[in-house]
Amino acid sequence: MSTGAMRRAQLVTPFGVGAMSVLVNGTSVITAGLDHWYEPNDASSLALEEYQEHDWRLEARLRVSEFRLPPDYRYQGQGKDNRNVKLTVPVLRFPRWCFCMFCKRLELSTLTMQHPVSCGDKKHREWKHKPRMSQVPFIAVCSDGHLDDFPFEDWVHRTRRPSCKGPLRLKSWGGGGLEGQRVVCDGCQKERTLRGITEMRLVNGEERTYLSDQLSEPDDPYLCSGARPWLGELVGVCSQPMRGALRAAGNVYFPKVESSIYLPRQEGAVSDEMHDLMRHPAVSTTMRTLHDIFGSELTVDMLRGQLLKNVPPELFSPISDEELIAGYRDLFGVGAGGSEPVEESDPELLTGEDEWRHPEFRHIRETPKDDYLTATDPGIHSDLNEHLNRVRSVDVLRETRALRGFTRVRDDVLKLSAGRLYCGVSHYRQFKIGCPPTSSKVRAFTWSLTLPGWQLGRPVLRCRTVLRRSPTITGRSSPSAVSKREPSLRASYCCTRWVIC
Ligand SMILES: [Zn+2]
Ligand SMILES: [Zn+2]
Ligand SMILES: [Zn+2]
Repeated sequence: MSTGAMRRAQLVTPFGVGAMSVLVNGTSVITAGLDHWYEPNDASSLALEEYQEHDWRLEARLRVSEFRLPPDYRYQGQGKDNRNVKLTVPVLRFPRWCFCMFCKRLELSTLTMQHPVSCGDKKHREWKHKPRMSQVPFIAVCSDGHLDDFPFEDWVHRTRRPSCKGPLRLKSWGGGGLEGQRVVCDGCQKERTLRGITEMRLVNGEERTYLSDQLSEPDDPYLCSGARPWLGELVGVCSQPMRGALRAAGNVYFPKVESSIYLPRQEGAVSDEMHDLMRHPAVSTTMRTLHDIFGSELTVDMLRGQLLKNVPPELFSPISDEELIAGYRDLFGVGAGGSEPVEESDPELLTGEDEWRHPEFRHIRETPKDDYLTATDPGIHSDLNEHLNRVRSVDVLRETRALRGFTRVRDDVLKLSAGRLYCGVSHYRQFKIGCPPTSSKVRAFTWSLTLPGWQLGRPVLRCRTVLRRSPTITGRSSPSAVSKREPSLRASYCCTRWVIC
């Protein structure tokens, strides 16, 4: 077991699904896909509604039905309340290749190795404590987003199917470059430097890499096997060229994070309390079922009638009909209400940033009054009258940031469906990192799991509320007022103040 620290927001970026990070004990890990992010020891203690979030515009944009907050780590419950205790985030050990600092021997470990790997080389036969091996800094990536261990065995033997199984060593011959790193096989005495493994060139517009072409020969290229170790998959479908990379290199992970400022369908129509009620799983499930059947045709009587069957009646008795139906429209972005329709476009691509931001701009330059979006007019000093038309003080806004996928090698366009697949999962065992509500300490646990297939459409999000507490334009106020009230959301809130002209 290892300990480390990670803030919840870091699980959106930079350490979201598919990203590599290093635990405090030096283990390099990759954040696993989403299917096992919300699995407590005791399944009955899971209260998923605490992590479900909605933003109807962003849901429509990304074509998903909800967002999830990364779970916070709770050492124990409060009183009898044991909900979501000890929820952790799974990570897998990657790269699998380890090497010994003393004898330079290479050894292939597993994604789920739970303990440090010790070197079993005969050179340490007399040692009381076998030396601990480190993970190698080299990996291989393809431009379709796959990631694999560097093929040391194939590389040194210059063939994709080496018959020699001799022990390998990774020796340093001095010099800081890759040419100073040399793979040596004890069995057949072959050796080869790592020179050129990161190189690529374009031939007639087609990408060719040194690793693929030169591992054996260009007629028999070494191509990507489609590995997605963050999902526990070491074989998949792909035939792109592979290139070597350092695991800390900047081109190994480009997260695709989308942000949205929440815009109410109808200003002031839905209170904070109603938003909270809609997080209740019985409420959101009922509303979703009705939406699937009736869409924007749903009447408030039908809605209230169904809710009364599924949730305690006292929950909704203080809520007016107007607010109830407004909440429904807000949740799904349907029906009347002074908001813009989501335009039809290529279902695989996002709308342009200007197009996407313009409605936010239009709302904020007015003076909206809503529990989730409030802006006021502080007036303009007479000296500035000539230069500024209007100034707005944004007192409350709610920003949702969602990780929808990532690319590797290049910061390319990522299709929506591809992004979702990259966040999926299959069968694996894993480490887990827990995220406590305070950033003081995090635990990484080892677990063993078998899981069902991947489910689509669950980007993770960070949700940020901006509250005005300070009278100065640039001042920051203490977040403590917020965090004391709602400790589990502490990492989700930050207090600052925006003024937009
Ligand atoms: Zn050794
Ligand atoms: Zn050999
Ligand atoms: Zn690939």
